[in-house]
Amino acid sequence: MVWDAADYSCGYDTTLGILANMWMHNIDVWSERFCIIGPYFLYWTLLLRQARAGQLSLEGARDSMRARMHTARPIEFPYGPNGTSIDRIARILLPETTHATGHRWCPACGYQDMEVYNLLEPYLCTALSDAQRAAYPTGFPVSEWLKNHLSSTMTGCPVCRLNTHRIRLQMRYKVNTVPPIMIITVDCGNMLFSRSLHFDVDGTMIVSRLRGIIYGGSAHFTSRYISAHGSVWFHDGITTARNCVEEGHIDSMDLHSLTHARGKTALTLIYALEE
Ligand SMILES: [Zn+2]
Repeated sequence: MVWDAADYSCGYDTTLGILANMWMHNIDVWSERFCIIGPYFLYWTLLLRQARAGQLSLEGARDSMRARMHTARPIEFPYGPNGTSIDRIARILLPETTHATGHRWCPACGYQDMEVYNLLEPYLCTALSDAQRAAYPTGFPVSEWLKNHLSSTMTGCPVCRLNTHRIRLQMRYKVNTVPPIMIITVDCGNMLFSRSLHFDVDGTMIVSRLRGIIYGGSAHFTSRYISAHGSVWFHDGITTARNCVEEGHIDSMDLHSLTHARGKTALTLIYALEE
C-alpha cells in the first residue's frame, strides 16, 4: 500500500499489509481463520476479496478499515497528519479472549491458590525485568519471555512466609487454544525474536510462526513480511510504495539484523498459527 501523505496511514499500511500478504498467499486457510477472530478481521477479509476481484484498490480497502476504526474510536484513529499507534490498532483488531488459564502454587510446600488466572491473550506487551536483561545480554528471546509470562508470578507463598521462608509462587498453566494471530509489542533493543513459538495443547505441539515485524522511528512505520516458507520482504509505504523488496531467507539471516530495518527499530511482532 502506498502511504497517504494527507492522512498519515503507516500504522495501517504495516499492520494490515502484513495480514493482507498472509491472506493473499493462502486464501483458504486465512479466510477461515480471520472470520473467527473478530468483526474487524471479518471485515478485512471481505475487503481483501473485493481488492482481489479488482473492485477496490488495496489502499481503498485500507481506507475502509480505517474509516470503521475512526467511527468506533475517533480520537484514537485520527485523520490528517496524525498517526495512530500499532498498540491501538492491535487492541481494536484483536479480541480480549483468553487462551490459557492457570493457578498459583508453591514449589516448596505445595500450597495451591484456587483462584483461576487468565494468561494468554492475542495481544501482549512485553516488559523485561533487570534480571532478565542481565541473564541474556545479547537479547532476550521472545519464546523465553512468553514462558516466563505464563509461568512466573510476583507473589510470595503465604504458608512459607509463616515459617519466615521467602518462596515465590509459580503458575501452573494450561494452554487451551493458540490464538490464530498474536501481536506482541517488544522492548526492541533487548529482545531477540524467536522464529517460532511452541505451545503444548493437550499433548499436541502447536506452532506459531513469526510472520511480520513493524518498525518505528521519526514518526513513520515500516515493516517486514515473512512468508510461510521463510522469505523476508521489506516494505515502506513511502519509499517502496506498492512493492515489497525481497531480502533473503529468514534461516540465513542473523536474528539480530531483524531488530532494525533501514534506521528504524522493531516495535511489534506478528505471530501466526502455522499453515
Ligand atoms: Zn510455600
